Amino acid sequence: MMSKTVIYAGEKYAVVDVGSRCVYCNEDTAFGSGRFVNRVGADHFDEETKEYRDGYSCADCMSMECDRCDKCIPLDEDITPYCVYGDDALDEFSDGAYRVCHDCLTAEETKILKENPENDF
Ligand SMILES: [Zn+2]
Ligand SMILES: [Zn+2]
Repeated sequence: MMSKTVIYAGEKYAVVDVGSRCVYCNEDTAFGSGRFVNRVGADHFDEETKEYRDGYSCADCMSMECDRCDKCIPLDEDITPYCVYGDDALDEFSDGAYRVCHDCLTAEETKILKENPENDF
């Protein structure tokens, strides 16, 4: 079997094919695992084991942090300026945040979002 290699930070590593496992937390994302639907193809270099893993990322490991409260935002529930203001939005909110959770929207932003539900895709 041919093993793939990758150059990462100037070093050459063999790519470890982890199959359907999550490259970050090593959970199985195979069909029937409950993680299949929200997985995405991913690769990741693990600084501890020096392994370059090729496989998938589960939804938990893809979840993002809110720029205002630093809590994790569930997949697809993040709000960016585009959700509120549509295509002609600036690429950040007035306070410099880009990705926020529902709890952190200001009254003004919530109002605009409600008035323009088509923006929140
Ligand atoms: Zn994971
Ligand atoms: Zn928040």
